[in-house]
Amino acid sequence: MLPLVAYVRRTDWPPHLELIERLRTALPDVELAVLADIAPQRLAEVRVAIVDGPTAEQLATMPALQLAHSTWAGVETVLPIVPAGVAVARMVDPQLADTMAEAVLAWTLYLHRDMPRYASQQRAATWVPRPLVRTSDRRVGIVGLGMLGTRAAERLVANGFTVAGWSRSPKAVSGVECFHGDDGLVALLERSDIIVDLLPQTSDTIGLLDGDAFTAMPAGASLINFGRGATVDDDALLAALDRRHLDHAVLDVFIVEPLPPEHRYWAHPHVTVLPHISGPTSPDTAAVIAAANVRRFLADGTLPADAIVDPSRGY
Ligand code: NAP
Repeated sequence: MLPLVAYVRRTDWPPHLELIERLRTALPDVELAVLADIAPQRLAEVRVAIVDGPTAEQLATMPALQLAHSTWAGVETVLPIVPAGVAVARMVDPQLADTMAEAVLAWTLYLHRDMPRYASQQRAATWVPRPLVRTSDRRVGIVGLGMLGTRAAERLVANGFTVAGWSRSPKAVSGVECFHGDDGLVALLERSDIIVDLLPQTSDTIGLLDGDAFTAMPAGASLINFGRGATVDDDALLAALDRRHLDHAVLDVFIVEPLPPEHRYWAHPHVTVLPHISGPTSPDTAAVIAAANVRRFLADGTLPADAIVDPSRGY
């Protein structure tokens, strides 16, 4: 009999049919079933669930569950709801890293070439050329130099930017000045014209980019947040933009998503709002990676080191 693996996604979200189909193709050696389609008497067979935005109630229905494998890189919504003793794996997909690196490059160029300002000048029929800044003179700082941050840093270096990054542990990335620790964060902020946030949401990173952080950034600097909304103190960011210490913010992630219609970000002249599109999961590549990890876990209970989430760190 094939092992039964559950696919779990909250039922009030649209089903992710392409991903389910890709997972079935990539896992011919297991019986992959959507949780709602598993007969109650068979739920005790499920040792592994592939989770794509689950609820605590859904996870609690599988008494023998050992692994919740996320289809997302960020697992801050899964960690607090997995039953005790259940391991969590995250999506580590080179395609996702490339997609995110492309988004980081695109929106860094948007800020680098003053596109928000020229768009606003056009609305006012104003002709004011600004001096050109070379990419080599534009200092980009990435907070969160992990899988996505490292690939983004490399893409920026390849395009001529002067790049630094910050992580919890020391790192070495070719062509990138690497900082770590609390002092390292201040040093990174002070030398960056554009900060790219690619941090996970953990108890240590919530509100990390606060008023002090924005004050440490040079006057006229900008922020791109592609990590998680809660890592930014929204009031402090709005205050820094309003007093024109910061020039512009490109925000793809928010504490509440979709961003509520009354939120000040929507109409702010110095904010670009994106609907969480910088790094979507690619069903074809994610399915192959999740399938390999699930197959390995079912065979010997192990996972690739970079896919294992450490609950004590929160990422
Ligand atoms: P990752 O490989 O785990 O990298 C996280 C990085 O953040 C690591 O460099 C880590 O440092 C650093 N970090 C974590 N906590 C820190 C702290 N307290 N102080 C300093 N550095 C800290 O994760 P990833 O795969 O790159 O993904 C990053 C995040 O991107 C995800 O968690 C998710 O929230 C977000 N994301 C967003 C989208 C989107 O569409 N907007 C898509 C995918 C992912 P160490 O290297 O020292 O551990």
